[in-house]
Amino acid sequence: MEPAQDHLFRFYFEEANVRGVIVQLRHTWQQIAHRDDYPEHVRRWLAQVATASALFAGDIKFEGSVSVHLKTGSGLRLVFAECSSEGRMRGVARWHADAVIPASPADLTDASGVLALTVMRETGEPKWQGLVPLEGNSLAESFEAYFSRSEQLPTSIHLAFDGQSCAGLLLQEVPGEGGIARERDAAMYEYARAVAATVTERELLDLTPEEVLHRLFHEETVRLNEAQGVRFECRCSRDRAEHILRSIGEDEARAALDELGMVTVTCEFCNGTYAFDAIDVSRMFIGSASPISNARN
Ligand SMILES: [Zn+2]
Repeated sequence: MEPAQDHLFRFYFEEANVRGVIVQLRHTWQQIAHRDDYPEHVRRWLAQVATASALFAGDIKFEGSVSVHLKTGSGLRLVFAECSSEGRMRGVARWHADAVIPASPADLTDASGVLALTVMRETGEPKWQGLVPLEGNSLAESFEAYFSRSEQLPTSIHLAFDGQSCAGLLLQEVPGEGGIARERDAAMYEYARAVAATVTERELLDLTPEEVLHRLFHEETVRLNEAQGVRFECRCSRDRAEHILRSIGEDEARAALDELGMVTVTCEFCNGTYAFDAIDVSRMFIGSASPISNARN
């Protein structure tokens, strides 16, 4: 059975300051991973990074987006994914074709792996960034250690991937009142964390979010908010492609023009292609917009 759709669910425990997010991605994932040349381990890293970005986007309370950016000194050069508070996702990975791709953080012997977690406002300005060392046995463990240690937010993360779909579960104890209430929150979180540790990848991928919560927490009162749709959507545009060409410089743009009669910029995220001819390139480097090329957009 496959999840009915691509979605994100927020839930919370009625009796304590413990909340969570469940994410299930199928079509969105398949569009993110549209490139068929991603090696198996690269796809797995990308699936985990994409799922994590959606879990964290489910955790923010304002209009904006969350990106997860993984860099290592190994054959896995970069894995990036972002998800907006409205559920728009995209992602990409880069790797060295002739190098070994690590299967888990434990394979990175030189401690070169680092994750950047960035929360942006809708306007594009960064609101918050955390640097998360890649450690432990998995990406999920790296984030758990980071949130619990650096942010004092006890957090439990489970990620699942079967090649076709990915899914994730996040549980977090959120700051509440002090005293007895704090003890109650901590005890409930500890209980929920231990129970959530029994969830299997297949359950996260195959069961509905309602079924996952019932299977894990049927003894507690857990409220599930309405589903939020998640979809693949790229933010590339002809303007952004033009900006990239400007940054590359006129000489390179002209060289490509001479050779091909056209300069094209292909978006890594969605494979969208933007083509510019000699008139476009002249206009770009004079800096004044020409009505001829505008009319063709
Ligand atoms: Zn694009």
